Amino acid sequence: MSFLIPCPNCGSRDVNEFAYGGEIAVRPETRPNVREFGSYLYFRRNVAGIQHEWWFHRLGCELWFQAERDTRSNEVLRTKSGGGPGAGPTEPADAAIPPEPAV
Ligand SMILES: [Zn+2]
Repeated sequence: MSFLIPCPNCGSRDVNEFAYGGEIAVRPETRPNVREFGSYLYFRRNVAGIQHEWWFHRLGCELWFQAERDTRSNEVLRTKSGGGPGAGPTEPADAAIPPEPAV
């Protein structure tokens, strides 16, 4: 199955240019017990619907970015750059600090 993913840098590209980085998991804020840490490491929601995921543009700009994908249709609803797997969710794109102008 093939579908398009809009890279924040390069625009829409075939999914085969990307590597899947997994669902976005929220890292425990305090020291977790063994059960909580095991859940964080190994359990995923695997929803049938909108899922938040990490993707890596391996045959392009080599950017890690987050995507909202409908797992039923593989439609990518939106993407935003920032962080990488393990970094957790970033702020919504609307709240992002604008880049400083080039000197
Ligand atoms: Zn790219």
